[in-house]
Amino acid sequence: MLEIVVIGAGIAGFAAALALWERGAAVSVVEAGRPGGEATGASAGMVAAQYEAEPSVKFRLGVECRARYPEFVAKLEELSGQALHLRWDGILVANLSQEEHEDAGVAVRWQQEEGLQAELLDPGQAAELQPGLGSEAVSYIWLPEEGQLDSQALAVALSAALARTEIRLIRGNSVVEVLSRNGSVTGVAMADGRTLAAERVVLAAGAWSGTLRGLPRVLPVRPVRGQMLRLPGATLALEHIVASHAGRYLVPKADGTVLAGSTMEDAGFDQSISEDGLRLIHDGVSQLVPALAGLKALERWAGLRPLSADSSPIIGPDPELDGLIYTTGHGRSGILVAPLVGAVVADLAVSGRSEFDWKPFRPDRFAGSESSAT
Ligand SMILES: Cc1cc2nc3c(=O)[nH]c(=O)nc-3n(C[C@H](O)[C@H](O)[C@H](O)COP(=O)(O)OP(=O)(O)OC[C@H]3O[C@@H](n4cnc5c(N)ncnc54)[C@H](O)[C@@H]3O)c2cc1C
Repeated sequence: MLEIVVIGAGIAGFAAALALWERGAAVSVVEAGRPGGEATGASAGMVAAQYEAEPSVKFRLGVECRARYPEFVAKLEELSGQALHLRWDGILVANLSQEEHEDAGVAVRWQQEEGLQAELLDPGQAAELQPGLGSEAVSYIWLPEEGQLDSQALAVALSAALARTEIRLIRGNSVVEVLSRNGSVTGVAMADGRTLAAERVVLAAGAWSGTLRGLPRVLPVRPVRGQMLRLPGATLALEHIVASHAGRYLVPKADGTVLAGSTMEDAGFDQSISEDGLRLIHDGVSQLVPALAGLKALERWAGLRPLSADSSPIIGPDPELDGLIYTTGHGRSGILVAPLVGAVVADLAVSGRSEFDWKPFRPDRFAGSESSAT
């Protein structure tokens, strides 16, 4: 049996571990905290391939991942017994200036040419879909195929699902070093001094991925803080996600509460919430759906997105260290891309091949990412 260690049990590590287990590998997952306890559980849970997308290979990856979501969620719900509340209610994106309105026309056209549903609505048409919208928008982009799930339920589901498999979960311990000999991985060293032997190591440590010793290259992944708050349900029923191009959004949840997010902050590994961040989010709420402004938040939190230097994921084997495979740098789309990327990583680990063209996301694409460190 192929021995594989996965570092990190966020959605990226979990999806890879599950796909590896399904392919018959002996999988151990080392998780510093609790499964889904970092960016994954902190996220808004949007399964959004079109919102803020550019025509690119990353966009096509997202569309393919979105199509696989129902199958992935059904499997996860069955394994874990946890409802994930996957729903496809669409996103209304407010164009808050003439310039955004004109750019939106272009975005809608290229997305339609890609065979996706996208429409430019005037404020009256948008109000028919969703009452209570703000008065500032010139127009809206309507993306009816976009979805979302409950990210906090997702975090619970990851632990429960792992417990139902033969995957060995080592919790509360960190990998400090990837071990290798003669250009091949041999395992990992953990913070408590123990080592785990492995023929393959999958690096899925989210924002912390670049901090491990023993990597053959400088991994350009940095933490980008996102703050979030949960608002109580109000008299207004929010039926769809409402978002702006500035990255503010309101996401209605199954329990009637609304998640309001978010910020994109370079604050290192500091996960505290700040008054400035919360003010930005509150301003977004007032602009997008004024009826929800002024509500006192039930909860507030912040998470660290693992963002790569070019904002695209880092997927695939390291060309200089045999057996080391990456699934990291998922930035703002890690929830969306997990199902397909997990399968690709598992195929690469087990057979060295994948039908999916992962090369645009290869780890050695960054100039200067090579390191003399061994
Ligand atoms: C506020 C916010 C909103 C977001 N909204 C969305 C959204 O709507 N849709 C979307 O697709 N994406 C969204 N994202 C992004 C998404 O959450 C991330 O891209 C995704 O969760 C990354 O998953 P991951 O498994 O790579 O990282 P994480 O979930 O951070 O998991 C990494 C895990 O590795 C563990 N770890 C780290 N170092 C070590 C070590 N040395 N040894 C062992 N374990 C280690 C950590 O404890 C952690 O559990 C959002 C993110 C934030 C912060």
